[in-house]
Amino acid sequence: MKHRPIKKILIANRGEIAVRIIRTCRELGIQTVAVFSEADRTMPHVLLADEAYLIGPPPSAESYLRSDILIEVAGKSKADAIHPGYGFLSEKAQFSRLVSDSGLIFIGPSPEAVTMMGDKTEARKLMMEAGVPVVPGTKDPISAPAEAAAFASEHGYPVLIKAAAGGGGKGMRVVAEEAELPSAFRAAKSEALASFGDGRIFVEKYLAEPRHVEFQILADAHGSVVHLGERECSIQRRHQKIIEESPSVIVDEAMRKRMGEAAVMAAQACGYVNAGTVEFLVDRDRKFYFLEMNTRLQVEHPVTELRTGIDLVAEQIRVARHEPLGYTQSDIRMNGHAIECRIYAEDPANSYMPSTGTILHLKPGQGPGVRDDRGVEAGNEISVYYDPMISKLVVWAGTREQALRRMIRALGEYEILGVATNIPLNLSILRHPDFVAGNFDTHFLALHPDILKTQRPDELEEMGAVAAALARSAPTLPEVNANSHQQSEDGRKWHRSRILGMQGGGRS
Ligand code: ADP
Repeated sequence: MKHRPIKKILIANRGEIAVRIIRTCRELGIQTVAVFSEADRTMPHVLLADEAYLIGPPPSAESYLRSDILIEVAGKSKADAIHPGYGFLSEKAQFSRLVSDSGLIFIGPSPEAVTMMGDKTEARKLMMEAGVPVVPGTKDPISAPAEAAAFASEHGYPVLIKAAAGGGGKGMRVVAEEAELPSAFRAAKSEALASFGDGRIFVEKYLAEPRHVEFQILADAHGSVVHLGERECSIQRRHQKIIEESPSVIVDEAMRKRMGEAAVMAAQACGYVNAGTVEFLVDRDRKFYFLEMNTRLQVEHPVTELRTGIDLVAEQIRVARHEPLGYTQSDIRMNGHAIECRIYAEDPANSYMPSTGTILHLKPGQGPGVRDDRGVEAGNEISVYYDPMISKLVVWAGTREQALRRMIRALGEYEILGVATNIPLNLSILRHPDFVAGNFDTHFLALHPDILKTQRPDELEEMGAVAAALARSAPTLPEVNANSHQQSEDGRKWHRSRILGMQGGGRS
């Protein structure tokens, strides 16, 4: 297979992932082209790239999702390749086809692999043929609630209605009993249609107490496929991940080998080339089932990078150049323990309401073993148009216990003013005895609603002091300390962002 030169890459994305990709490109001596909407003029990815082009108004549909404009900019800037990042157009087969048809290199899998894995029912069939266990469910999409009822009477309730084209937890409904089926069927179908333009739904057994364990794979264009170990992603809210770690406490060497082999088989079954993630659910008996394959770089990829020392973006680019991986499974070393916390501008205690506004001050935790991947700085705005993620704080240490301590330390150092964040929630989870013991599943947050309120009084005192110090050094802050020492419902004081009176919504 002929080597394909890549000298300049257009990054069809924004925020932290665009910054992340630009950094590796710079290390590899590759020129970068950023694109931005009118809302993103001063974002770090725009300032960091070698060139940047305005592509439209703030709504994604008029900017970051405009494949025609992206191709035009790639032509104008003489880029040889497009990296899609995650989200936006990263899993749209039509886009990767358009990129290739325009004579550019798409840094990702083939449109055929994206299409196959983008349809959950097709992916499940492929996995069954390859001998990879899948969650029991209907083979094909269903057209009436009666078909779901027939499946449920055979396999028992609860069942899960899912969108074939699903993603981001959309178009999913848990059904506990037959009476709920018709309305769940209608709701899932219309949500699927609205979100994906594809109303096909199917039904699966809803596993009790599952853990979400996924495997990173890398495949080159010469037939080599390796896995880079697992990521435990069971700490979720509404089926969306918040904290990820590697290794998973439930995966031992033998299980890693079996799951890793299944992940490699999944990649081989669809002729996969580039980086991808094979997701599994693991039940109480540590039996694992294929859930889906994500045909792109994952948000939580840094956890794997810290544990293996492999730069996944660099590998994606090498593979896209048709270079062979140059190593085999036995060459891959996995060391220590890595944890990622997603820092969102949102208020967990107020239905996770996004907290929009200008970031007035931002200084993430730093120090030994800490990496902060972010796409915003002080002065930037968290707007209503995009995902409210501020950064991904990732730590590495020799053991899980040390990594937990390190993450708690780094989160404690994290200073941010202007928007509310889920930092207190992250801290409460990391300190929860069940989390510390590794005893949790995807329902952890739902089972511990009190965690949204738990703040240690000593920590609140400490945060109050930090907030007061920050307020003195930032005289432009509005209404600083307005709520200082106010008591919350549970008799404790507000955490730092509340003390500063900037929390979106209120719970007084
Ligand atoms: P999406 O593509 O929308 O993200 P996934 O199929 O990847 O959906 O599932 C997302 C999450 O939903 C999983 O991590 C898990 O928490 C939950 N989930 C999905 N399928 C099942 C199932 N059959 N049983 C229990 N939980 C499930």
